[in-house]
Amino acid sequence: MKGAASGALCFCDGQLLVRAGTLEPAGEEAGGGREVLDSFVVKPQGVRAVALGGTTEDAPAGHEWLRVRRLIADESPLAALACRALGLLNWRAAHAYCGVCGEPLEDHPAEMARRCTACGHMAYPAISPAVIVRVEKEGEILLARHVQRIPDLYTCLAGYLEVGESAEDGVRREVREETGLEVGDVVYAGSQPWPYPNQLMLAFKARWASGELALQADEIAEARWFDPADLPAIPPPGSVAYRLIHGLI
Ligand SMILES: [Zn+2]
Repeated sequence: MKGAASGALCFCDGQLLVRAGTLEPAGEEAGGGREVLDSFVVKPQGVRAVALGGTTEDAPAGHEWLRVRRLIADESPLAALACRALGLLNWRAAHAYCGVCGEPLEDHPAEMARRCTACGHMAYPAISPAVIVRVEKEGEILLARHVQRIPDLYTCLAGYLEVGESAEDGVRREVREETGLEVGDVVYAGSQPWPYPNQLMLAFKARWASGELALQADEIAEARWFDPADLPAIPPPGSVAYRLIHGLI
């Protein structure tokens, strides 16, 4: 945690400013000269989070911009705090005004929330739950290349939950919509926050029950059954997809 508790986490375009070649946050002073878009104290950790303007194409001397996924992949003790700080910055950027009456929101003095000075409406940080699933059939696992998301990687099927839907039903629907397959028992395996911008990935394992592959062309470029001992290019360590695919959760 060196450098974090006493300093600040500075972000630009979703990336964290660190001392070059380290996973150590640079602190607020390193971002000097850049426009401060937002700044607040993350509770209850008491660390300041700062959103800086400009781009990540250049960094202050002796520093570099780091994707939060690197902290996750390296199992940095800072990963959870960085995810929380970035997720809250993303939420604040989208909630400057009251959704009820349109007046500006201000920070609540005690809670990690914002309130409307005109109508009293309280706005709390939102999380978007998504499901990701490892479908297995006779010892093989189903992996897909997606049309939109990193099209040269094979990964598990995934998607956002619908309002009013259980996570298990969301898994069955996503698998059915994207591949035409029906799955049997759906078992929870773990979760991972993903602050791009505010997802909570809920991971599941499921067994194929029936159907042949019939792909949703606008979502899935290709889907195949793979032997776990002979995998194609998959997402990197640190991602919940990697842990699911390798059976680590
Ligand atoms: Zn209001």
